[in-house]
Amino acid sequence: MAVDRRNFIKITGLAALGGAAGKEAMDALAQSEAKFSPMDNALHGKRWAMAVDLKKCKKDNGCKDCIHACHSVHNVPDFGNPKDEIKWIWREPYEKAFPDQENEFVPDDLLHASAPLLCNHCDNPPCVRVCPTQATWKRQDGIVMMDWHRCIGCRYCIAACPYGSRSFNWRDPRGADAEGKPYIKEQNPAFPTRMKGVVEKCTFCDERLAKGLKPACVEGCKQAALVFGDLDDPESEVRKLLRENFSIRRKPGLGTQPEVYYIV
Ligand code: SF4
Ligand code: SF4
Repeated sequence: MAVDRRNFIKITGLAALGGAAGKEAMDALAQSEAKFSPMDNALHGKRWAMAVDLKKCKKDNGCKDCIHACHSVHNVPDFGNPKDEIKWIWREPYEKAFPDQENEFVPDDLLHASAPLLCNHCDNPPCVRVCPTQATWKRQDGIVMMDWHRCIGCRYCIAACPYGSRSFNWRDPRGADAEGKPYIKEQNPAFPTRMKGVVEKCTFCDERLAKGLKPACVEGCKQAALVFGDLDDPESEVRKLLRENFSIRRKPGLGTQPEVYYIV
């Protein structure tokens, strides 16, 4: 079922009045849209996760290949100022990314390194709980999805995410600056652009998994520092890496159970 934004707001208004019937309508909508239907060679997993090897990543510290790969394939706009920045994957200094892991004995090269950050596809995602329209939800395979057509721009999810993984389009990403420079340098026609007033974030490349492809950031990393796979599969590369290496997660004390792991 395809539901545009206006109809969705209408339906959710009815749902708010409709008690149990309203709840059913909401649940049906949450399951309704399969934007990228899986192909025969689609990748399937029960618990998708990412391992980022900071030892490999810091060899090319400051490299932005993963960011370019992700942002170009997903039509992520560049509004030209940090206040309006839209980010699906970005870099932060170690001490900012892992404030609870910092101590005076952290090796200097790690402390001064920066880590690539993205949505953690948390097992217990607070962003999902607060969304009033189910524009964001967790799939069976663990991916925390986002439907821009259902987003009403309330930004509750942004407030709820403790990782800064969500961005809001304060301007029309399809537009251009005063000099006529488009915010999306080169549009990828195979991926939808968003509109002003909606939230966006990483979706673990659900559209690529449906075609049998690994996430764009993983493919774009020349150090092979990013590994994506199914934690439910004991033979997967990601499971092997986590078995054989010490890893940390961002803000583990919050109970969100991030599914992005950092090998340090
Ligand atoms: S990192 Fe933030 S946006 Fe991603 S699932 Fe966790 S709480 Fe939600
Ligand atoms: S998994 Fe896909 S959407 Fe997420 S940061 Fe990597 S390239 Fe971007």
